[in-house]
Amino acid sequence: MNYTGIIDKYRDRLPVAPRTKAVTLNEGATPLVELVNLPRVLRRDVRLFAKFDGLNPTGSFKDRGMTMAVTRAAEEGARAIICASTGNTSAAAAAYAARAGMACFVLIPEGKIALGKLSQAMMHGSVVLQIRGNFDDGMRLVQQIGARLPVEIVNSINPYRIQGQKTVAFEVIEALGAPPDYHALPVGNAGNITAHWIGYSESAGAQTAALKVSPGMRDYGRRAIADRRPVMVGYQAAGAAPIVRGRPVENPETVATAIRIGNPVSWQQALAASRESGGWFSECTDQEILRVQKLLARSEGVFCEPASAIALAGVLQDLEIGRIGAGSTVVCTLTGHGLKDPDTAIAQSAKPLTVDADLTAIERLISERLPGTAATSS
Ligand SMILES: *Cc1c(COP(=O)(O)O)cnc(C)c1O
Repeated sequence: MNYTGIIDKYRDRLPVAPRTKAVTLNEGATPLVELVNLPRVLRRDVRLFAKFDGLNPTGSFKDRGMTMAVTRAAEEGARAIICASTGNTSAAAAAYAARAGMACFVLIPEGKIALGKLSQAMMHGSVVLQIRGNFDDGMRLVQQIGARLPVEIVNSINPYRIQGQKTVAFEVIEALGAPPDYHALPVGNAGNITAHWIGYSESAGAQTAALKVSPGMRDYGRRAIADRRPVMVGYQAAGAAPIVRGRPVENPETVATAIRIGNPVSWQQALAASRESGGWFSECTDQEILRVQKLLARSEGVFCEPASAIALAGVLQDLEIGRIGAGSTVVCTLTGHGLKDPDTAIAQSAKPLTVDADLTAIERLISERLPGTAATSS
């Protein structure tokens, strides 16, 4: 049968009625790619997997939550949705609103969102409000507007977002046959690490304090399909690491714009997830994030955005110091596609070679660079 997205697939584990019609773009079912070259190149005894959620319909994991939030909003008769966004939430909101025939308003920090994401919000016909402020300012304003106007907030304070996002854990368990030893991911607003942990907890028939059971939301913690849960590891950019440092960051800065957040909405739930799993939070520099983004693209053919690369950058760091032990199975969620942020990718890559349309010139350039010749062995 044709795959029609996470709501139809996991209906019995999500807060939707049997007959609820999903607003879907067939999100989910993203590939779990084993990174086969990196452990060899780095001489590490580890099984490393990338859950490539950048291959969702709008290019990030936000689609898993947005299908739930917009489905519920549509069912309740909402005609407009609103969100604050570092980019990917606005792209997903705009697309799912278009699908549902709703109006969509997005608040983004002026000049601080990646070009691909901005183009999506614009193409899908949402009203884009660039605010002179950061994500945290936008988030506060959206909550105030939500209380004054008939617009449904689809940020991760909307509990249905987290419910949709938990399905990533179900897919990982299905693909591996069991939970991994460690699951690593980037942490911005901390909704996704919370969602992963809820998904793993439900799969193990375990309770978790990360789940805030709100009206209309069941506790699904009784259908065990796994006998344990992974250790959850969250990584933040050094310039935007409130959870690592233990206090909000006034002016967060990082090249990884998707996690440029100083005061995460799901801070407490993320702490609960980390504590219950025996995990930790740690930080990576922008330089390290970009180095690993490129390493992954070149050695494995997987192109993710900078915020996503921090999951792998952090894991490599923690393998190095032995915090993640030899022989472990590790899954990194790659939250967004590299095409989201072409400016950052181009800025750190070698410029294209410009050459005349001339056989001899081109033949020389290529033969100098064939594997095994001097120019390629450096
Ligand atoms: C939203 C986002 C994150 C951060 O997820 P949170 O749930 O806010 O912690 C990380 N990476 C990408 C690509 C994102 O779009």
